[in-house]
Amino acid sequence: MTARYALPPSRTLADITANALLADCGECWPGPGVPCKGGGMHVARLARARRRGLLSAEDMTIVVAAVIASMVPVIVTSGADETAVAA
Ligand SMILES: [Zn+2]
Repeated sequence: MTARYALPPSRTLADITANALLADCGECWPGPGVPCKGGGMHVARLARARRRGLLSAEDMTIVVAAVIASMVPVIVTSGADETAVAA
């Protein structure tokens, strides 16, 4: 007999940020339960919530995907002097 396993449903970003709101934010310091200043939620708060066990590794994968999606126009550099012209 083959065992079948169902994957647990992924949580929404709204569920995740609701849990993260229980942590304080090390960026704007509103305190637990109080939203971050300026709307949205600082990544620092989400990371703090993960360290405190309020978020799972799967939750953080969803968070990172959302952060990357919001950064599409951001340019990633190699760290080298990219203004130099190759000879
Ligand atoms: Zn904040």
